Amino acid sequence: MSTLPSLFLSHGAPTLPLTDAPARAFLSGLGDVLTPPRAILMVSAHWETTVPTVSAGERNETIHDFRGFPRALYEMRYPAPGSPAVAARVADLLRTAGIDCNVDRNRGLDHGAWVPLLLIYPHANIPVLQLSIQPHLGPEHHLNVGRALAALRLEGVLVIGSGSFTHDLSEFRGHDVNDRAPDWVNSFADWFHGELTGDRIDNLLDYRRQAPFATKNHPTEEHLLPLYTALGVAGEKAEAERLHASATYSVLRMDVYAFHAPRSSNALREDTNRQARLGSSSTAV
Ligand code: ZN
Repeated sequence: MSTLPSLFLSHGAPTLPLTDAPARAFLSGLGDVLTPPRAILMVSAHWETTVPTVSAGERNETIHDFRGFPRALYEMRYPAPGSPAVAARVADLLRTAGIDCNVDRNRGLDHGAWVPLLLIYPHANIPVLQLSIQPHLGPEHHLNVGRALAALRLEGVLVIGSGSFTHDLSEFRGHDVNDRAPDWVNSFADWFHGELTGDRIDNLLDYRRQAPFATKNHPTEEHLLPLYTALGVAGEKAEAERLHASATYSVLRMDVYAFHAPRSSNALREDTNRQARLGSSSTAV
């Protein structure tokens, strides 16, 4: 089995499946170009716990964890099975690395998980489980969680961090979905992209001090932390590849990244056709 990249994606507003936006179009084609995984581990910004917790039910309830949106959204379901076996593997890998991990057999899928998966894998036939985040522990903890889970890539488990590349909800209202992003949003995104592709991990961990408009774009960190876990899964010297860039509602950058393990430790990687298969896309932002 080929090794998988890990992914970070921006899930946008819960209404993304109902929205005519470039990000929806991109996510809707993503499943067709990825090597089919045997399971998907979603690290969603919308599940916060004190201790890392993995969902381990046989089935997944669809959690509609939002209010005030169109009825059609509440009628959507994503009935993917769970995977207690992969959940046990996640817990074991974390504990082996000295990271505490709880197991939750009742947790379903929040919208940070099911909204993008509804677009990427609409048949809901690949087992899905979630891993929670710990915002009080910051970026380095989430990077270490990812590094502890690196073996999953080799076992056919696709790890997806689901958050938002920028996420200032105080500026969200009043914008149309395809309004262009202002400079304070794009300058943050440009800085972060440069550090990711330059593999400057120390700067990335210190982004709140170094990145322009960092606390403006992320008043709280929970929508960026899943990126660090996805990055960590690809190991040290990971190669970051931007698959998509756009914005919705002006202030929500919808960027999607793939993180590849370094070439020397990833002999099975299919380099030849990767660019063609993943088909990088971006839109004016
Ligand atoms: Zn969100």
